[in-house]
Amino acid sequence: MIAYVVRHLTCDACGEPYAEDDVSVALHDDHQLVLEASCRACHAHRIVTAYERPPYVHLRRTEPIVPAMVTQDDVDEWSAFLAGFTGDVYDLLAQG
Ligand SMILES: [Zn+2]
Repeated sequence: MIAYVVRHLTCDACGEPYAEDDVSVALHDDHQLVLEASCRACHAHRIVTAYERPPYVHLRRTEPIVPAMVTQDDVDEWSAFLAGFTGDVYDLLAQG
């Protein structure tokens, strides 16, 4: 995964390509990696969210993540939906 990021990303600030040594794993759970890349040319830091399946990386997330207020109705609705859901959750989330 780090190799994939290294091959496809360059520094946002100066365009310098990353080397494998420049990218480290900040967080890793079952399906998602949070990678921290630091540019050896200009020392800019960048956080990249990576997945083990396509689309692999979320590039250039520019908008802050604002948590939506979740109501009990939302929970009930999603609970009912997911109970009958048989598709690919990755595809489902990718549509969001
Ligand atoms: Zn740079």
